[in-house]
Amino acid sequence: MARRWPCKDSRMATLRITTIAGARPQFVKAAAMSRAFAASGQFEERLVHTGQHYDYQMSEAFFRELDLPAPAVNLGIANLPHGAMTGRMIEGIEADLMARRPDAVLVYGDTNSTLAGALAAAKLAIPAIHVEAGMRSGRADVPEEINRIVADHVCGLLLCSSEAALQHLAKEGLAAKARLIGDLMYDVTLFASGRVEASGIRARLRLAAGGYSLLTLHRAENLGAPARLARLVAYAREAGQGQPIIFPVHPRTGAFLKAESIALDEITLVEPLGYFDFHALIADAAQVMTDSGGVQKEAYFHARPCITLRDETEWTETIDAGWNRLWTQPAYSTPRRSIPDYGNGHAAREAVSAIAAFLAA
Ligand code: UDP
Repeated sequence: MARRWPCKDSRMATLRITTIAGARPQFVKAAAMSRAFAASGQFEERLVHTGQHYDYQMSEAFFRELDLPAPAVNLGIANLPHGAMTGRMIEGIEADLMARRPDAVLVYGDTNSTLAGALAAAKLAIPAIHVEAGMRSGRADVPEEINRIVADHVCGLLLCSSEAALQHLAKEGLAAKARLIGDLMYDVTLFASGRVEASGIRARLRLAAGGYSLLTLHRAENLGAPARLARLVAYAREAGQGQPIIFPVHPRTGAFLKAESIALDEITLVEPLGYFDFHALIADAAQVMTDSGGVQKEAYFHARPCITLRDETEWTETIDAGWNRLWTQPAYSTPRRSIPDYGNGHAAREAVSAIAAFLAA
């Protein structure tokens, strides 16, 4: 099949990008990129939603709040074991790519949608670009790590959010494909700041500024064993020091808590929140406790301390800068300082320039 590289004298011709996204954190990052693609005037983007997250609060709410253009197609693939889910996604994405032959495919993060998009594009010899590349936890047994490693090795351009990510890629012989662009989630945090201030959720939940903790838990490694989840919840209650703890419950976690009847006394469970409400709660929390990747950074963006409810993190610079600690660490390791890696709110613009240069090369 012919490869559709843009030729040198058509550098300013429109470049057609297919974005693959299926999960909440991918919609957040895609919102920043979509805005930058539109502003560049050089790109035409088509979004393929795999369907991995499908509830209104986990999907459509983000399209509405963050002005993300509606997906061109939704493959509707969810709630399946890893093999079946990834396989069906590859099949659906491949069909879309064969019909459209875009100039490049963009994948985000570390989900099955990331893996499927990267593999489908690579096998069709369509240049694939991985955003948030180079993240490594050192845990070869968790699905996210497997997805990241494969995506990084088959994608042609690796856009990174941290120096640590660049170093991981260099160790795997991938330095030539890697670029540091900053963190798209910071761009979105800044974009949303006015709407966040107007949220009013703190008043609705009767919370005093600085008088509560915000908790999230959703990773498979924490939901796999009821005893571990019970320990984490007990830890969160103790770390909350008697203040209210607000816990927006991810659907996967909700199903697990119900099935295992884990006691959550003194913790206020709420539905997954929209982006503005969630950020309003981060901004005024005494602390954030989370096993989310993105939320660790967002706590830092709002200058709130974070306790990560995992035994390791890919976002090591948040720990090195004193804003974050693992629940296994008794205290923050250093006085707090800023983290230059995440950039100045223009990561998406940097990414668009890197993509244009990559496709012109
Ligand atoms: N988020 C949200 N509402 C919530 C919980 C999270 O808007 O109730 C946002 C959060 O601000 C971040 C993203 O969802 O931008 C993180 O998603 P998640 O924790 O599911 O994924 P991870 O970052 O671990 O991949």
